[in-house]
Amino acid sequence: MTLPPNVYDAEPIPEAARAEVERLLSSGDLFRYTAPENAPVTLLETEFAEMLGTKYALAVSSCSAALFLSLKALDLPRDARVLIPGFTFAAVPSSVVHADCQPVLCEVGENYRIDMEDFAAKLQSCQAVIISHMRGHTSDMDAIMELCDAAGIPVIEDAAHSLGTTWHGRNIGTIGTIGCFSFQSYKLLNSGEGGILVTDDADLVARAIIMSGAYEHMWKKHKARHGENSNDLIEALERWQNQLPLYNLRLSNLSATLIRAQIPEVPRRVRDGRRNHDHTAAAISASPWIEVPAKLAPEERAPDSLQFNLVGLSDAQTLAFQQAAGKRGIKVQVFGMSTDNARAFWNWQFIQDLPELPRTRAMLMRACDCRLPARLTLEDCDLIAAALVGAAEDVMNGAITHAAE
Ligand SMILES: *Cc1c(COP(=O)(O)O)cnc(C)c1O
Repeated sequence: MTLPPNVYDAEPIPEAARAEVERLLSSGDLFRYTAPENAPVTLLETEFAEMLGTKYALAVSSCSAALFLSLKALDLPRDARVLIPGFTFAAVPSSVVHADCQPVLCEVGENYRIDMEDFAAKLQSCQAVIISHMRGHTSDMDAIMELCDAAGIPVIEDAAHSLGTTWHGRNIGTIGTIGCFSFQSYKLLNSGEGGILVTDDADLVARAIIMSGAYEHMWKKHKARHGENSNDLIEALERWQNQLPLYNLRLSNLSATLIRAQIPEVPRRVRDGRRNHDHTAAAISASPWIEVPAKLAPEERAPDSLQFNLVGLSDAQTLAFQQAAGKRGIKVQVFGMSTDNARAFWNWQFIQDLPELPRTRAMLMRACDCRLPARLTLEDCDLIAAALVGAAEDVMNGAITHAAE
């Protein structure tokens, strides 16, 4: 029997990182503010801003830290209401609570994207919005920005898992007021832990820089993408000197070095991830029991995992499908059916008056999650697709015979 493909291992860190890691180990220069200039963290920030086309980038200890600092940078009043999708990772409502704000949950549809009717209805009572492009699925950013711009409400893009995705050709994470990305190991760029925020707003980034832990005059080591607009940045930083708390959420030079070495890999990872996803999605869509929701027209995706919905299956059959896929060597997680899943909103019990979201719940009870890293071959993808289609047949052919009795 052919072994199922290994979907868990990360890619090795490119060889190019080794010399710089060695230099850091020999010198002990791990703190971003020790060197007089051009520390690996600073270089990562200018390179990342360059890659995305934003003026500013601030590297921090995680995407959760970037989301928290974004909310703090917006200077929202205590208990401000922040609209977030009902389908996201628990770190997102957590960052809202951490920033002394209140998460307001919005319905998400069967296609994993924000339900615009519910969004529009709830927006008016909110002072900020976090859009999670969950598993890299982009919500309708045209409609979202139109509503938020009209209401003067800032938009934070949680693009943790969306690096490389574009919307009308524009990089995801650069459409809202601030965009946040993750360097945790399950994301496109992997340093174990880490995150970065991007924005064109000098005042917001200045506040975030200081609160991230640029104490005293450490902020002088921060740069804009090209340096040409650094006067805006310096003026903003001088304005906020000594005015803000220091949360110390910095990134280390070691992490920055690992990430910088992977930046040249981004186009290849995006291209192969999309190829693997689209190939596998087309193959499993042949099953009458499986539906892969279509992307929105302006969106070019950068997936490293596969989500699909089971159609016409009961709760028991859905669980049986999960087991049948496992027997065939492919781990599938139905978001709403695995105990204590951090992406199921009813498990966010740290939120006061946790609401019910019937549409989101119905989606989570049939939506399957399956890893599909960019390094897989199309043969690997065929094996995964055959196992998924086969698992649905195992369950449903049995059920059809059963129902006919
Ligand atoms: C991974 C992830 C996060 C959290 O990122 P960290 O860097 O681990 O804090 C937030 N939102 C989404 C959508 C994610 O996928």
